[in-house]
Amino acid sequence: MNRPYNFSAGPAAMPEEVLAEAAAEMLDWHGSGMGVMEMSHRGKEFGQIAQEAEVDLRELLAVPAHFKLLFMQGGGLAENAIVPLNLSRGEAVDFVVSGSWSQKSAQEAARYCTVREAANTQASGFTTLVDPASWQLSNKPAYVHICSNETINGVEYQSLPDLKALGCEAPLVVDFSSHVASRPVDWSRVGLAFGGAQKNLGPAGLTLVVVREDLLDRALPICPSAFCYKTVAENNSMFNTPPTYAIYIAGLVFKWLKRQGGIAAMEARNIAKAELLYQAIDRSSLYTNRVDPSCRSRMNVPFYLRDESLNEAFLAGAKERGLLQLKGHKSVGGMRASIYNALPLEGVQALVAYLRDFEAQHG
Ligand code: PMP
Repeated sequence: MNRPYNFSAGPAAMPEEVLAEAAAEMLDWHGSGMGVMEMSHRGKEFGQIAQEAEVDLRELLAVPAHFKLLFMQGGGLAENAIVPLNLSRGEAVDFVVSGSWSQKSAQEAARYCTVREAANTQASGFTTLVDPASWQLSNKPAYVHICSNETINGVEYQSLPDLKALGCEAPLVVDFSSHVASRPVDWSRVGLAFGGAQKNLGPAGLTLVVVREDLLDRALPICPSAFCYKTVAENNSMFNTPPTYAIYIAGLVFKWLKRQGGIAAMEARNIAKAELLYQAIDRSSLYTNRVDPSCRSRMNVPFYLRDESLNEAFLAGAKERGLLQLKGHKSVGGMRASIYNALPLEGVQALVAYLRDFEAQHG
């Protein structure tokens, strides 16, 4: 089956193999007589599914033993409240505002603690990143929050900041929703990382939290039990009913990632995909990407047509060619191609060919 290429920012394209496997197992998982949706989360069948998912993900992301891996609900936006409830102790926290998502995170955290901005690149239209050496960190913040890949603005940290080297002992909190599993993570620099699953890991409804064990004792008394990391960790992510079907599908994605050669292999493919697309944009006189080349995202590529009156024709022509969901986020307009792990190089090649043909017709 020749499916169109799907450039959605999330929920996003899934590996086709995973969809086919899930379809084949829909009515009867491994001879159990049950579909996964119908299983008790406390039964041995789902226990095996959840356990394998955790082991595979820990291996893929090379998560050290002193971090807990939690499968939660609520998505990235809920984490904007759940993180300060668990880590802030109601004290001051530092935020690096590098785009729409870190800005939202800072606004939400301010309901629970004092928020200070260590840097803010809004004046650049969120097209740059500030060198961490120039961040205005406070004296002993409870934690420092960054969004390591800004999905809307297309800005990505090429490495995580080393807070210790900056003289800051606070844990680094990373929203890695939109590039988790696309590149390795340097866990020695991380206190906590969280991400919604619906871009690179699986279906919406599952939220991944990876948290250093020594940070589990800080929750405020008002923190809801189902969102208290310590409670969730002590119950192996089964304090409440976890998003069982989403965990199952994510587990299939993890096995698919392993078959692809793991995260290093995915990173190499993602670099090749991103280079191809940025080159095509930079060489054209119709399209433009406004992000500083030093921090362009490998996952989310926003671009604009210099003649915006062509936007509708561009999108309609793309759809005809089987290139779906290229419209940019409503807050910034233009176009955006999200090229997550599941979007193959052939998809980017097809997009690049379309960019060229459309420009030849309209440029
Ligand atoms: N953070 C980032 C980086 C995101 O891309 C998104 C969703 N696009 C969110 C947070 C919010 O996630 P959710 O919609 O799952 O709450």
